Amino acid sequence: MAILVTGGLGYIGSHTVVELLNNGFEVVIIDDLSNSEKFILKNIEEITKKKPVFYPFDLKRKELLTQVFDAHKIDGCINFAASKAVGESQLKPIDYYENNLFSLINILQEFKERRLSSFIFSSSCTVYGQADTMPIDENTPLRMPESVYGKTKQMGEEILIDFAKAYHRKISLLRYFNPIGAHPSGKIGELPIGVPNNLVPYVMQTAAGIREKLSIWGNDYDTEDGTAVRDYIYVVDLAKAHVAALQRLMNDPSDETLIDIYNLGTGKGSSVLEVIKAFELANNVTVPYQICERREGDITIAYANPYKAEKELNWKSETSLEEALRTVWQWQKYLESRKV
Ligand code: UDP
Repeated sequence: MAILVTGGLGYIGSHTVVELLNNGFEVVIIDDLSNSEKFILKNIEEITKKKPVFYPFDLKRKELLTQVFDAHKIDGCINFAASKAVGESQLKPIDYYENNLFSLINILQEFKERRLSSFIFSSSCTVYGQADTMPIDENTPLRMPESVYGKTKQMGEEILIDFAKAYHRKISLLRYFNPIGAHPSGKIGELPIGVPNNLVPYVMQTAAGIREKLSIWGNDYDTEDGTAVRDYIYVVDLAKAHVAALQRLMNDPSDETLIDIYNLGTGKGSSVLEVIKAFELANNVTVPYQICERREGDITIAYANPYKAEKELNWKSETSLEEALRTVWQWQKYLESRKV
């Protein structure tokens, strides 16, 4: 069974490809390398001792996509390919809508014409905005996200729900909380391309001396220590949830529409200060920081109620924050060793 993984050399994509290969799936990757590098493919092969098929092109090139569907018997798709920088999305909205939505629609055209089902969409807890109550379950009302990036995720979800309903297909919308960490092999992780926006990559680079100081965006939030709270989930645990979600779609015997929606998180919130402390403890390093003004558009608190995924996917996040942060440091060491 061949699974198309778009953005399969990206951060969450590469970890999911590893889990798919380890579970006996054949994998066809399409990735335009806009936010990844070719050595990730080599490292996936080293980790799994298997070879995924790889096509380097932009999914907006419909004619090339059609050729891939002609060349392989695709049984399902996990769609990671998307631009994801929140700040950049505000500056380049049309590019973001074009890139994130045209590519999705192109794949869905192929799925529609070839009567394929089993489509997994990588979504985000950003679709909930600042929820009124915690933890956030799947029935929490959606709020139109502030960023263009977040809007492309919410629009992508809408497009998929309409697709599933109209053509009786099976889809899964996976709403990630905050993915962190790297593979325990130390060979794949989040590539440091440009100045990191996310907390953990910034902490990693500060500990490594690449950045002078971490800026904590606000310590006057209504939380225990004043810094904002998120649900940090280990990327390998997250990758495993994709395999479970895919198996559920593929094993569903009915011809009816199936629309699965899952929040993927640990169920536990951690503040920015707690993350810094955990990183320092886990890796025996120091992370210099300063307190700054709040970052525009940031919410105070978000953590998941992961019960639905636990029950229906038989999946659970298993890795502690400290363990996940240890793999981050290991990944940094690997990146340093590549430069020598
Ligand atoms: N954060 C921070 N300094 C940074 C990056 C992030 O204080 O350099 C904070 C940010 O304000 C938020 C949390 O860390 O409260 C997680 O931020 P991230 O960008 O990783 O995820 P998101 O805001 O999308 O949940």
